[in-house]
Amino acid sequence: MTQGTSQVGSSRDRIQIPSPREFGHWIGGQWTTSQGEPFIRENPGNGELVGRYRNATPEEVDSAVRSARHAFDQGVWSDLSGEDRSRVLERTAQVILARTEELAAFEMAESGKPLRQARAEIERSAALWSYAATQARSINGSSFAALGKGLTALTIKEPVGPVAIITPWNFPFLIISQKLPFALAAGCTCVVKPSELTPATTLLLGEILKAAGMPDGVVNIVAGHGDPTGDALISHPDIEIISFTGSTRVGKHAMRTGADRIAKVALELGGKNPHIVFADANLEHALDAVLHGAFANAGQSCNCGSRLLLERSIADAFTEKLIAAARKIPVGSPLDENTLVGPIINEAQFNRIISLIAAGKEEGAILALGGTDRRINGGRYIDPTIFVDVTRSMRIAREEIFGPVLSILTFESAEEAIALANHTAYGLSAGVWTRDISVAIQAARGIKAGTIWINTYLDGPAELPFGGYKESGIGREVGLAGVEDFMEIKTIQIRDAGYSPRWIGPRISPDSNDRSAG
Ligand code: NAD
Repeated sequence: MTQGTSQVGSSRDRIQIPSPREFGHWIGGQWTTSQGEPFIRENPGNGELVGRYRNATPEEVDSAVRSARHAFDQGVWSDLSGEDRSRVLERTAQVILARTEELAAFEMAESGKPLRQARAEIERSAALWSYAATQARSINGSSFAALGKGLTALTIKEPVGPVAIITPWNFPFLIISQKLPFALAAGCTCVVKPSELTPATTLLLGEILKAAGMPDGVVNIVAGHGDPTGDALISHPDIEIISFTGSTRVGKHAMRTGADRIAKVALELGGKNPHIVFADANLEHALDAVLHGAFANAGQSCNCGSRLLLERSIADAFTEKLIAAARKIPVGSPLDENTLVGPIINEAQFNRIISLIAAGKEEGAILALGGTDRRINGGRYIDPTIFVDVTRSMRIAREEIFGPVLSILTFESAEEAIALANHTAYGLSAGVWTRDISVAIQAARGIKAGTIWINTYLDGPAELPFGGYKESGIGREVGLAGVEDFMEIKTIQIRDAGYSPRWIGPRISPDSNDRSAG
């Protein structure tokens, strides 16, 4: 049953391909030159040069962190009112929108994602900056007036301090926009290290923030690989919180590094997300969402719905229609407006996907579509791939593949579907398709994951927190929770002067004054 998918040619008339650009680091509100080892980024779609970079050395990382520390200690940002911070964040959203085409072109050229998807990502990112702008004005604590006569207390929220933000390559501008504006709304200052595979748009944020009125030193951005740049950043003693998105393997390393100095750590990690379709669902909508969830961004998505769990009574018919539709997905140049599946990011990831496809076959799953790879114009592509007869113990049912590979399993009951969904070390997201509200609630309550989509997949309004259970992470991004991750809670207890407790000497209020904290 293995067959290729349709392929479309490329056209360049609708987009300005960015000329290769040389980037330094953005430190203290300006571009700085680097002494670090040079590296380049080439377009995964055609091998053309996109950018020249240098790995920030530990000394350059130190300079970036000192800049963030100084800006924090001087209060150039954290002392501003929420109203003033909000204004800068909203202006940033507007400058991002004004530079959408340029940002989308760099995003497409470095990540290989289809151009229309890159444009949508930039627009969605601007919306996150706008939302975070509203949060900058809404930070508040609690008050306590029922603690006994003479004692009043309140909690206030304060910015944690300089933040290290580390991001992956698959949605570079979206992911930095899920973190940075929220850290800034909280009043933190930041040092950002984007992935070495897609640094351009994040580095351009330096210029964008400056144009929006961000004080110098509040946001510093360094290019580089995990070694030496990322490691120097997360182990820096002046970093108070590490906000990391990437693989579970590197996330564990970031957590261990933070533990050495009890730095706060927030992690957004991998996923092996189940997409469950019950027989009573709107199957037409479910089918489209399953394809989108599995194959968007060539499956290189933390939310990739890479496990399809089908109720047995509809499994054969649904699978047949799914394969027929998947076969028509346009695979090809990211520049083509029709393309839905672009190239794989690099050789290492390509080889990993191919080896997991081989493992699926070796372990006895049936390859029903794809499994094929091809080179187009220098890019490495893998066709949408579907395995049937997959069992829960197979590697393709357990491991994050991060490619366009969908594994289909079947179930008889809601209980079995939930058990299958939870049979993984991850817990990022899940999709459930049913018209039965009690089944929907049962699944939503039973699945251990940070986001459950019912009769939808991949929705993501800025108001809603996002994050993982289990090995998918710690902490939440976006929404109110996204700001709170970057804040400390301070408790302030106030006694009326006349009711001060006495440790020695006569007690004024023996019933309520003896509750010292431990
Ligand atoms: P990765 O872990 O290889 O790299 C992520 C970032 O960490 C990069 O900037 C990299 O340079 C840096 N890094 C690597 N080694 C480091 C070190 N020793 N010290 C400090 N930094 C280091 O991940 P990737 O391949 O870029 O991204 C894919 C992974 O990200 C997938 O597992 C995916 O599921 C996950 N992801 C998760 C989310 C989420 O929100 N949960 C979103 C997107 C991607």
